[in-house]
Amino acid sequence: MKKIDSLRELGLFDAKVPRYTSYPPANHFENGVGQQFQKDWLRAVPDGSDISVYIHIPFCKRLCWFCACRTQGTKTMRPVDAYVEYLRREIKTVRATLPRGIRMARLHLGGGTPTILSPATMARLLDDVFDAFATAPAFEFSVEIDPTEASDALLQTLVGYGLNRASLGVQDFAPKVQKAIGRPQSLDQTRSVITFLRDNGVTALNLDLLYGLPHQTPESFRQTLDHVIAMAPDRLAIYGYAHVPWMSKRQIMIKDEDLPSNEARFELATMAQVVMNAHGYRTIGIDHFAKPSDALFIAQQNDEVRRNFQGYTDDQSDTLIGIGASAISRFPDGYVQNAVATSAYQDRIDNTQLAGHKGYAMRGDDTIMSQIIEDLLCRFKLNTAKLHAQFPAQSAAVNACSLMLVRQYPDLFSVGKDDLQMRDWAKPLVRIIASSVDTFSRTNTGHSAAI
Ligand code: SF4
Repeated sequence: MKKIDSLRELGLFDAKVPRYTSYPPANHFENGVGQQFQKDWLRAVPDGSDISVYIHIPFCKRLCWFCACRTQGTKTMRPVDAYVEYLRREIKTVRATLPRGIRMARLHLGGGTPTILSPATMARLLDDVFDAFATAPAFEFSVEIDPTEASDALLQTLVGYGLNRASLGVQDFAPKVQKAIGRPQSLDQTRSVITFLRDNGVTALNLDLLYGLPHQTPESFRQTLDHVIAMAPDRLAIYGYAHVPWMSKRQIMIKDEDLPSNEARFELATMAQVVMNAHGYRTIGIDHFAKPSDALFIAQQNDEVRRNFQGYTDDQSDTLIGIGASAISRFPDGYVQNAVATSAYQDRIDNTQLAGHKGYAMRGDDTIMSQIIEDLLCRFKLNTAKLHAQFPAQSAAVNACSLMLVRQYPDLFSVGKDDLQMRDWAKPLVRIIASSVDTFSRTNTGHSAAI
């Protein structure tokens, strides 16, 4: 049987499965896990440990139709400036709740459009962040940048505060595709931001692309890839577009009939991987690519790639503090998500200083399942020896999981003494495999296509 037929038979073109940027996926967070858990888990972060901080800016001047991010459109800066004052209050409360000796290893500003802030507002926010948290020696400060909404003055401000990695949204350069997704962005705008960053010492650059967009063809996407290769980012994410108009109302602007079929999506993803590999980028997980000099590739070599809300990361911190509306904090014992709507978030900060409103407390086999799913997504394998050593009391769960995988997918794994390794041809199925060990997926609905 041809590889494509095997993938079809195993559900690649029909399955709707989570992306597993967390386990359990955020749609299984529970209302009972809110501020008290947030407070207890903040206090329980080991003194002296390194944490990561994520700050969410849920505002954009334009609302691109494809985008399912938690963000709102604004024409004026008044709501943005008001929101930043709430972020500053939340940062102070979080700082006061954490032990004194923690250090910040990562700071990431995402959105929405973080570069919508004025230089003065950004400086106020960053002053508070750096007052609150001492930085670890290998500190990384990264920001998501919309090249159409990033003034030189704002970029200069970020550089002044130590920006050392930037992530630029591109999606696709083809004008017909950009029109269909409501996101005009010229090559020149993108190149000019890249040049400014590099001239100012920010050389670690990620670009984000999407395959599966309306009107995308292998030829048009190949042209986008050629433009991107000429820009020479050291890291690239090529995500599959998730068409979920029932969750993201803006996407009703995108016509179903303009979208490539799931088989065509697979062709686009496969072509992108072949092209990027041919240009010296190594594949990381299901949708990232990195030059051999990039920290993510080095983490892969050391078996240290992890999965988080941004996708793949070399961040090793066990604690991620999410600041802002809808931001999710990850602790060793579970997750807490802040109130999602900006107004609800601000109400919570006004009334109770912290904004956690739902989450998940890990219990039973959740932690081991989370590790198994992260291993599958990051390494395409079940490292049974390591899992037995790490979770000696749950050996039965490891054995049951490996037995189920071998029985359910006899051709997909090579079985070694210490691990089950997915065969190369089967790797596109990894989210489907992960969903088969995920006890929550039995009640899942509404996810995006597996490819
Ligand atoms: S893609 Fe970026 S600029 Fe467009 S709506 Fe989403 S967050 Fe805003």
